[in-house]
Amino acid sequence: MGIAENLAQVKDSIVQSAKAADRKPDEIELVAVSKVHEASTIRPALKAGHRVFGENRVQEAHGKWPELKEEFSGVCLHLIGSLQTNKVKEAVALFDVIETVDRPKLARALAKEMEKQGKVLDVYLQINTGEEDQKGGCLPKDADEFITLCRDELNLSIKGLMCIPPADEEPSLHFAFLRKLVQKHGLEGLSMGMSGDYETAIRFGATSVRVGTAVFGVRAKKL
Ligand SMILES: *Cc1c(COP(=O)(O)O)cnc(C)c1O
Repeated sequence: MGIAENLAQVKDSIVQSAKAADRKPDEIELVAVSKVHEASTIRPALKAGHRVFGENRVQEAHGKWPELKEEFSGVCLHLIGSLQTNKVKEAVALFDVIETVDRPKLARALAKEMEKQGKVLDVYLQINTGEEDQKGGCLPKDADEFITLCRDELNLSIKGLMCIPPADEEPSLHFAFLRKLVQKHGLEGLSMGMSGDYETAIRFGATSVRVGTAVFGVRAKKL
């Protein structure tokens, strides 16, 4: 199947999942994760009218998106991979939303750089709900303090929270935990759910799902 068909199918399944959960389909945003794929693979999704995309590496995104953004207006690009502070300048210039704000040093660097560039990006704070060493994200025990810092001291424009559950665990526990944390802090956005579990995530309140494989097909092995 082609990319446009995949996209339509995922969108349809988002609508069905929303309805099943008694939610409004238009409350749920689809971030089409185009990491690893080339511009020629991404273009059909843009031609089909889709505008919200996710990339996990600043450098890779820099290699394809400036051109695609020229070609298609209204693109909203999300950074969904970990961000090093030395790439903050480039990230603020290229992306529209940063989903992986996960530590004070990065949050401060982003606040400073946005002010410098006169550009306000929406952000999600990433929570490492599975407390995995190899994964980014603020640990649950530090989350309250971190959210307060980002909101009250740094004045970041916080869309909500984001998580990537451990691959070998039941994701719904993590989704439920993240939703509770969002409610506790009076936030709204919940970025959770990928190709394998976005329907479940929607049941647990996801407002944004990040779907790669189901839209663009299986990715070539990581180099
Ligand atoms: C790659 C990636 C996705 C998309 O995963 P699929 O299983 O291909 O849908 C979602 N979120 C993050 C953070 C990713 O790195």
